Amino acid sequence: MLVKGVVFRLDSDLPTEAKLMLEDFRLAVNNAIRAGLQARVTSRNALTKLAYKDFRQEHSRMYSQHLVSAFGAAGGILKNHRKRIRKGVTCRIPYVKRLLMKAENQAYKFDRRSGIIDLPIRAGHHIELRLVVSRYHRKYLDDMTLSLGSLTVLPDRVIVTFRKDAPKPFVPESALSLDTNERSLDGVFVEGDVAKAVKAGFPDIATIQQRHHDRRKRLQKKKAHDRRTSRNLCRREGTREHRRVDYRLHQVANSVLKFAEERRSAIVLEDLRGFKSKRSKELNRRLSMWPRRKLHQIIEYKAQWKGIPVVKVDPRNSSRTCPICRSIQDSRMGAEFKCECGWHMDRHINASINLLQTAISKGMAGGLRFNPGAFQHDVMMILYEPAMAARSEPNGTSSTVGVT
Ligand SMILES: [Zn+2]
Repeated sequence: MLVKGVVFRLDSDLPTEAKLMLEDFRLAVNNAIRAGLQARVTSRNALTKLAYKDFRQEHSRMYSQHLVSAFGAAGGILKNHRKRIRKGVTCRIPYVKRLLMKAENQAYKFDRRSGIIDLPIRAGHHIELRLVVSRYHRKYLDDMTLSLGSLTVLPDRVIVTFRKDAPKPFVPESALSLDTNERSLDGVFVEGDVAKAVKAGFPDIATIQQRHHDRRKRLQKKKAHDRRTSRNLCRREGTREHRRVDYRLHQVANSVLKFAEERRSAIVLEDLRGFKSKRSKELNRRLSMWPRRKLHQIIEYKAQWKGIPVVKVDPRNSSRTCPICRSIQDSRMGAEFKCECGWHMDRHINASINLLQTAISKGMAGGLRFNPGAFQHDVMMILYEPAMAARSEPNGTSSTVGVT
């Protein structure tokens, strides 16, 4: 089962009753956390057994299903807390500060045509939440193969989860093989007898990471006498960085998937799991794996949702192997891969050709074939570049364009 959370803005302010309900929910979660810590239990059922009666009296205004959902939320927080303690991380007793409420799908009604949510507050009393519905939202609301999952209510927005069974991936008619690098996805698109180089560049992501890293370093130095302030400021920097990078990763992934969907391509990626480099600490940070792993996760998840086949292959030696004569070259190499047999190619594209050949030789790319000799050296298809996202970001600052 695939799940996707979709954010809706509210048409007007949350009614006062609903605000009170969010506060009640938070209170119930925090009470349940305390009770669970004392009794050393974390499961929703155990928490319900332990605390339902007492809470029922204290929170008599609350719809009982919401109360059970609060126990579920508390259980999740307690489990994370226990995990951290087992890892030996020192942490405070968990406490929810944010105002939010979660309702399971049987605890609310959603009229998908009008975009109105009917949410019970207490016995016999309901409130209506009117959602702002855009064309993006219509895609989910009108697709009746999607069923409704849980609802999360926040003071200014709600998140509705939609669910569906994973569609069967289509049989590929072409292949898009991508080598993942610090500033771009580079690869090859193969359709019939034709092979072309493709590129999705995201040089701005590394730039953002560098800028935030420098800023954190400066903050740490400046606030060296005040560790608490330093930590808080750094955390805020980290959140901002994540949001900026995330936004771009989604843009890149969307371009790749649009291309693959239109041309019925299987996507070939290197398997980054267990990939550890033995480079210096500084270089390791610069080549930090998380944006690349995250990019793969986003591509894989969205591909699953759309039924696009994704093949992951072992990248060992993919940047050092000659796809023509299969000999393995020295690892120290410039931007161009050169082989004694005469084959030469951009290093990253060469790697993607090897990834594709691995996928084909293992029978993972359907009946596709690939002949490196059919490579059209003069053609480069651009799947994505930062200029394509040259519109204002959600946080209001415009994206950096043309940074190299
Ligand atoms: Zn060769």
